[in-house]
Amino acid sequence: MSLLKEFDQRDPVEIGEQLHRFAAELYPICRSITGDGVRQTLAQINRRIPVQITEVPSGTAAFDWTVPREWNIRDAYIKDPAGKRVVDFQRSNLHVLNYSTPVRATLPLSELRKHLFTLPEHPDWIPYRTAYYKDAWGFCLPHNQMLALADGNYEVCIDSSLQDGHLTYGECYIPGSSADEVLISTHVCHPSLANDNLSGLTVATALAELLSGRDLRYSYRFLFIPGTIGAITWLARNRENVGRIRHGLVLTGIGDPGGFHYKKSRRGNAEVDQAAAHVLRHQDESWEILDFSPYGYDERQYCSPGFNLPVGCLMRSVWGTFPEYHTSADNLDFIRPKHMAASLRICTALVDVLENNRRYRNLSPYCEPQLGKRGLHRSSGGDVIGEEINARLWVLNFSDGDNSLLDITERSGLPFCTIKEAAELLCQGGLLATLPDVSERDTSKEDSDASSEVRGMPRARGIGARR
Ligand SMILES: [Zn+2]
Repeated sequence: MSLLKEFDQRDPVEIGEQLHRFAAELYPICRSITGDGVRQTLAQINRRIPVQITEVPSGTAAFDWTVPREWNIRDAYIKDPAGKRVVDFQRSNLHVLNYSTPVRATLPLSELRKHLFTLPEHPDWIPYRTAYYKDAWGFCLPHNQMLALADGNYEVCIDSSLQDGHLTYGECYIPGSSADEVLISTHVCHPSLANDNLSGLTVATALAELLSGRDLRYSYRFLFIPGTIGAITWLARNRENVGRIRHGLVLTGIGDPGGFHYKKSRRGNAEVDQAAAHVLRHQDESWEILDFSPYGYDERQYCSPGFNLPVGCLMRSVWGTFPEYHTSADNLDFIRPKHMAASLRICTALVDVLENNRRYRNLSPYCEPQLGKRGLHRSSGGDVIGEEINARLWVLNFSDGDNSLLDITERSGLPFCTIKEAAELLCQGGLLATLPDVSERDTSKEDSDASSEVRGMPRARGIGARR
């Protein structure tokens, strides 16, 4: 049975509640681009799917970047002149400028203000701010609270450490019959932020659970990595292997009530771009396809020109366009179980299309074959010539070796599953032959100028060249 049909037999309410419960478990953890928050998060994911952890030492070069010192934090507060904790890390980890250097000091309000970050346009929310690659410390708090601070001396404490350590990321690899891979990447570096972080990683975990133990065509690699530096580090360490990636998806911001947005890969015409557009067209919520831009999430790294991998990005609301983005309002109420479940469904549908999208050859291409004598001119639902017969004719006519089932789906306007079932039936009837997957690596020898490209990525060239 198709993955999607099976998914649709499950209770979406229960799926959504499970996803949301997992997000709620991870919500209190103070994550950053390095440190124990990422390790704790990966340990929680590892209770559901097998995650291989990689620790990369601080100071390791990754292309133009360097793995930073590791940041950990135990406590932080501001005490008012009366000695009362008015800003308390224990109440929200967003109160601390992420990656703050340690500090213990007493200073007047006028000095303290230089280290305070607020959001005047949403005066009751705590902003999320970071100080990666800077030596800085600070606190984030609601603007109204800052305005209410009385003059006097304040005691500040940030009990953090910033030392040589490691950058940590996790991988879950699910083998399929081919070594060719589908990459699903999600960042795990934001603290208590639900949509921008937890929605992506909980849905990715659930998708990995759903694919585990199945007969799959592709192998699946799920990456749980710190944004930017994590993806860059992973790419630097896997430069020779990225040629296996046939399709890829960055998952983020998929728990909010906004409609779907799919940002195309840099290539713009990758199979995953075509598949995502198809899947979104055949679901009920609003959706939009965005062209690639060099700003956003980790697709920026996968689609950097040296790699140019076929990796798109699935979101609901686009980063920076919703007021809750990077604030304390991106909380567990902002992501809803039903939206998370529907996002997991889209991912399942996308995988279903990728798994089944093949090219075939019509073995009887001279005029239409006589379907009747093969019992193929009947719909399985009765004798009416309908969509199923139509689908068989479309598949026969366009299975010339060039068109994939997805191409035929687009041309015919018929659902992918109907086209796929027609192809299976025609194969059984001896009218259609499956064309073997051409591994992009196998074509590298044909590319005389392959050596002028970045080594280890012949396949990446192959896809671009052929389609
Ligand atoms: Zn973010």
